[in-house]
Order: sequence, then structure tokens, then C-alpha cells
Amino acid sequence: MPRRRAQPPVTVEPLAPRIATGLHKIGLAMKQQAWHQASGEGLSATQAQILALLVAHGSLTGSELAARLGVSLPTVSDSVRALVEKELCVRSADPRHPRASLLSPTRRGAALGARARAWPEFMADAVATLEPDEQRAFFQGVVKMIRTLQEQGLIPLDGMCVTCTHFRPNVHVGDAPHHCAFIDAPLVPEQLRLDCPDHAAAADAERRELWARFLTPG
Ligand code: SF4
Repeated sequence: MPRRRAQPPVTVEPLAPRIATGLHKIGLAMKQQAWHQASGEGLSATQAQILALLVAHGSLTGSELAARLGVSLPTVSDSVRALVEKELCVRSADPRHPRASLLSPTRRGAALGARARAWPEFMADAVATLEPDEQRAFFQGVVKMIRTLQEQGLIPLDGMCVTCTHFRPNVHVGDAPHHCAFIDAPLVPEQLRLDCPDHAAAADAERRELWARFLTPG
């Protein structure tokens, strides 16, 4: 009598933890890629992230860098010292705070920072395999997850329309329901920013109200 092939076990684990496992794998791939590319440029991953931030946002203080990267000031200070020694960054006086200094990339540092900013784009090929509807649903999920992590204080409250004081959710009829008061222009859902340099964090109560209005299409 022929032996029956063993059936794979039926998956009973809920979807949420399995998505978390998948995100963990994607995170590992990104970390490995970032480390590989940074070391290829003679940088640590933090040094590369600092250069990328300076290219994206302009000159910043050590405290601002630490807040945006979600790491401690001593960690940033060590990396900044190394970048200055490598002549990839220069310090200058901060006109806003007499005792602080601003960090700016040199020409070579800016070129490396621009390359570092492009590194996550290796993911774009993988994302491009999703159908348009899948991409829209995925983007919406990403916005929700990042906001949750921001509200939990696990990543910096930075860059996203849904936490920005200039954001006006669901104020228009049609395909572009949202509005950015900073550029005074309507936004379609796919145009919501995750890394806007003009983001201005709304206060706690305002953020809660923005989110409630965002989740309630008109
Ligand atoms: S300023 Fe930037 S983050 Fe704020 S609403 Fe406008 S596009 Fe979004």
C-alpha cells in the first residue's frame, strides 16, 4: 500500500504576528544591505545615516541628529567626530543657539550622503512586484504602523503628513481629499509624505484630532 505524503500543518497563527515576522525579515535585509553599502564606502551605518540626513534636511545640531535618528547624543557625537576627522563634515556656529554648533556635509560628504539616501531603493524592486491595489493597501498600512510607533515613542515624531500641523485631512471631495496648508495644495492619499523636510509636529491633542479626521473620509 503506497504511503501517504505528510500534509503541511494548517496555519492557525493569526495574521498580525506573521506580518510582524515578515517585517522582521525585511528589516534584517535592510540592515544588512545598509551595513554592506556603508562599509563599502568606509563608513559605519550611523555615519552614513547622518550624512543622508544632512543632505535631506540641511545643517543640523548633534541633538537634532540624535532626535531624528532615535539614538543617544553620545552615539551621534562619536560618529560626528569621525565624520569631521574624515573631512566629510564641518562644524559651524549655530545662530539659533550660541553654545551649539551646526554640522554640514563637505562636498565629498554630500556626495556620500546622496548615495546613502538612495540605498533603501534596493527595496523598490521588491515593492514594484506588488499590484497597484496591493501597493496602495501596503502604503496605508505602513502609514498606520509608523504613526503607532511614533506615538509609542519608539521612532522620532518626524516627517509624516498625518502628524503635521499643516495637514488638513479629508477636506476635499474627489480623488485628492487631503490638503497641505504649507504648500497650499490638495493631496491624493498616495502623496502623503513619510519624510517631509517641512513637517512641523502637531501637539498631542491636535495629532489625535488629525488622526480621527483622517480615518473618517467625508
Ligand atoms: S508640510 Fe509636509 S508633512 Fe506637513 S502636511 Fe505638508 S507635505 Fe505633509
